[in-house]
Amino acid sequence: MAKNLLDQAKEIEPKVISIRRIIHETPELAYQENNTASLVENELKRLGIDVKRGVGLPTAVIGELDTGKEGKTVALRADMDALPIEEMTDLPFKSKVKGIMHACGHDTHVAMLLGAAELISRNKDLLSGKVKFIFQPAEEEGSIGGAKPLIEAGVLNDVDYVFGLHVSNSYPSKAFITRKGAFMAIPDSFKIIIRGKSGHASAPHNTVDPVFISAQIVTALQAVRSRITDPVQPFVLSITTIHAGTKDNIIPDEAIMEGTIRSLDYKVREKAITYTKKIVESICTGFDAKCEVTFSQDVYPLTVNHPEVTDEVMDHLKHIPGSVVLEGDPILGAEDFSRYLQVKPGTFIFLGTRNENTGSIHPNHSSKFTVDEDVLKYGSTALALLAIAFSRKK
Ligand SMILES: [Zn+2]
Ligand SMILES: [Zn+2]
Repeated sequence: MAKNLLDQAKEIEPKVISIRRIIHETPELAYQENNTASLVENELKRLGIDVKRGVGLPTAVIGELDTGKEGKTVALRADMDALPIEEMTDLPFKSKVKGIMHACGHDTHVAMLLGAAELISRNKDLLSGKVKFIFQPAEEEGSIGGAKPLIEAGVLNDVDYVFGLHVSNSYPSKAFITRKGAFMAIPDSFKIIIRGKSGHASAPHNTVDPVFISAQIVTALQAVRSRITDPVQPFVLSITTIHAGTKDNIIPDEAIMEGTIRSLDYKVREKAITYTKKIVESICTGFDAKCEVTFSQDVYPLTVNHPEVTDEVMDHLKHIPGSVVLEGDPILGAEDFSRYLQVKPGTFIFLGTRNENTGSIHPNHSSKFTVDEDVLKYGSTALALLAIAFSRKK
């Protein structure tokens, strides 16, 4: 079946690539995926698939194909949002929207899922039960994201299994990478406001200098990694912004810093949050500054792939000729697909797109990110294969 699906995916490949290129040229940011949603809706309707728009979020599109036969309901999810990045590639179909780019490959996710929808509707006889196509807005939002409102609107209520695929230039072209259990991190972000006392740069003893204090904090917080959390547990803390001051001869009143901690374990995370606050507060107290440390609420949970389902997924994908299936290491990136996996069993899978020959070597979220389009047919095949196989499960 896998070979047969791949052969059919090769037939529809030019169309899938052209859909991808249209979306790539006209990227839309989170919550604004209106044209992408319309393209998806039209394409699903063309395939005779029932479509609902605006479920949970205005730009969400949910397709449903019901065979009428008894069986399981399998959900396949593609995210649709682009990033606020100016595209720096030479692609002929490079972004036409200034400052916005599909730098995470969500354009390919939409195209691959539409390709899978075509394969599934062509091979309806092989299916049982139902397939749900979830075209989700706003994956890149970092805290709440698009998955949550969709789940709250009931998108997963009748679903038995849920699968998601993500392209990545961290892995070789045409490789499928996944892992049982904890796969991707909890992405907490934080903000630190240091309130000092402004004054002349020549007389620091009459001020409370928030710039100096912020430098102590940057250095000291690395101890959360090196001295507070268990060294064998994956964990990272990065300070990513520092804003302070207006002029060379003024010590400012305030400095504002932001950063993120990434962990794969809830206990490690709690300890890291506690000590991040404690260290910042004690440094500020030591230098007579006031401070506020706030962590964002309702962040994406840990991405945990269901062990047995993931074993089965890997077995199925091994049958796709020309690809490889690898067990990946846990990574400290995050995904709001984790929210689906909190509710229903399923698997999140990476599809490698790194290919030196096509110049697809820059990481996701780079302004030079490109994908090896040769992989799209493998993505469509994988999604269709999983939908068919899991719909028939007893
Ligand atoms: Zn991304
Ligand atoms: Zn992404």
